[in-house]
Amino acid sequence: MNRQIQITIPYGCNLAQAICQQETSLQPEQISDVRIIKRSIDARQRHKAIREILTLEYALDGEKLHRPTLEDTPTCQQIQRLQTQKPATDPIIIVGAGPAGLLCAYTLSRAGIPVEVIEQGNAVEQRQRDVQTFWQGGELKPQSNVQFGEGGAGTFSDGKLTTRIKSPHRDFILQLLVQSGAPENILWDAKPHVGTDILQKVLQRLRRELVDQGVIFKFGSHFQGLCWHAEAHQAIIDGIARPFNRLVLAVGNSARSTFQQLRKPLQLESKPLAIGVRIEHPRNLIDKRQYGKWHQQMPAAEYQLRTSCAQRGVYSFCMCPGGIVVNASSEPEHVCVNGMSYHNRQSPYSNSAIVVTVDQKDFASSAPLAGMEYQRHIEAACFRASGSYAPPAMGAMDFIQQRHATSYATSTAPHAHFCNIAPLLPAPVVQALRLALPVFQQKIPGFIEEGVLIAPETRTSSPVRFPRDPVARHSTVSHRIFPCGEGAGYAGGIVSAAVDGVNTAMAILTQTP
Ligand SMILES: Cc1cc2nc3c(=O)[nH]c(=O)nc-3n(C[C@H](O)[C@H](O)[C@H](O)COP(=O)(O)OP(=O)(O)OC[C@H]3O[C@@H](n4cnc5c(N)ncnc54)[C@H](O)[C@@H]3O)c2cc1C
Repeated sequence: MNRQIQITIPYGCNLAQAICQQETSLQPEQISDVRIIKRSIDARQRHKAIREILTLEYALDGEKLHRPTLEDTPTCQQIQRLQTQKPATDPIIIVGAGPAGLLCAYTLSRAGIPVEVIEQGNAVEQRQRDVQTFWQGGELKPQSNVQFGEGGAGTFSDGKLTTRIKSPHRDFILQLLVQSGAPENILWDAKPHVGTDILQKVLQRLRRELVDQGVIFKFGSHFQGLCWHAEAHQAIIDGIARPFNRLVLAVGNSARSTFQQLRKPLQLESKPLAIGVRIEHPRNLIDKRQYGKWHQQMPAAEYQLRTSCAQRGVYSFCMCPGGIVVNASSEPEHVCVNGMSYHNRQSPYSNSAIVVTVDQKDFASSAPLAGMEYQRHIEAACFRASGSYAPPAMGAMDFIQQRHATSYATSTAPHAHFCNIAPLLPAPVVQALRLALPVFQQKIPGFIEEGVLIAPETRTSSPVRFPRDPVARHSTVSHRIFPCGEGAGYAGGIVSAAVDGVNTAMAILTQTP
């Protein structure tokens, strides 16, 4: 008989011995198998010890435990029920090969629906070369960069898989990633993370799986807009009008030319954003603060900070422990930054976005693309300040004390341009950051003295929302068009975008005659 147990143990303890300490009638030799169901780290009592809070399943006397796989997830069973026996029709066209588009493609193709994925960027192998060339001072490819290409915006990321949304599809997504080569601990860790190095391999395996399921990928292919008369819908792809029955738009939050194309036909709306900087510290500083004397035995530490200043929310976002700050630009002569880590999170730095909420009052317009223009204005100012793609940077203390910007060491690829960043950001954002950083310094001593600010962090979420039916998930303008994922304004982060992709596919399957 298998049993479940919840235990709190010192970090790194042997699991069988820990079970026996709680179940005193057992000897470690009797425990023949252990499976972790949930694990989180508790550092609240770090002056005494760091603990792991575990939910475990164990078996006794030679028995082995069943380890659930992708096929065991309720989502797979749901797809099976919706599986179509109908002869193949025209493929469903999915624009965008980010988490939303890929998971939508996986779900539909598993159910027997033909799918074609249109992605303006390159497949991950070539995309990796394009991004490295750019980071080494070469050309920025507007269609293949840190935002665009196979895997979408999260390919060059920390690969954090945390999400605030609760969805039954989360397990399905994590199991699919594990089946494609992601480490198994993402299934049980409270704060799962993959790392860009593993993520890029996972994407290649996932593509092979999708191709085996019949999905057609068209990389370097650009969706340029829509035209429709009565019931005849056409998508303009690489200059050619293609009729379609169903079109999924999973274009991500940086698809500016696409937002421009779709602004009128799909009645896009502007939405609030968060704008700011990335702050970088020596990893040691953060690790010591979070883990005390145990920091060398622990993985790179995370933090989450939030306050309210000048009637605005200011918060840390998308933290990359043991990571690097990367140039995440996608538009010529515009600069923006983000964070990325490898699986082992061994960089001597840790970074996080510190962002301030902004809305239509700041954009001084309620026009649908006002938020996007606000982002562009900041990114263009940052490019002009350095005269190149080197992101502007400044010591956090120099920023607070409004003094001359001296240079500091930073991980920023390829390099940063030290200058006064305050004039490059909107005044309310600067004001809120100057008030918030001292609050964060109280929580993490050294946060200001040892912090370097790298600007700008502008792509935290989509500047627009595509109105859609809450149940059927099609656009409120056309029942053949399905806006999906972060770009459409319905997700934030890898997992929630992927969940939206699955939900969109389920909605299409339910409606497919
Ligand atoms: C550097 C970086 C680090 C990040 N780190 C994390 C993290 O650790 N954890 C996390 O949860 N989130 C992270 N994010 C955010 C995360 O990547 C996004 O939330 C997620 O990728 C959104 O998924 P999506 O599928 O909706 O859109 P995207 O991933 O943006 O994918 C959209 C795709 O559509 C394509 N496309 C757009 N327009 C067209 C067109 N007209 N024709 C053809 N193709 C088009 C784009 O090229 C792109 O590949 C990070 C983002 C960045 C940039």
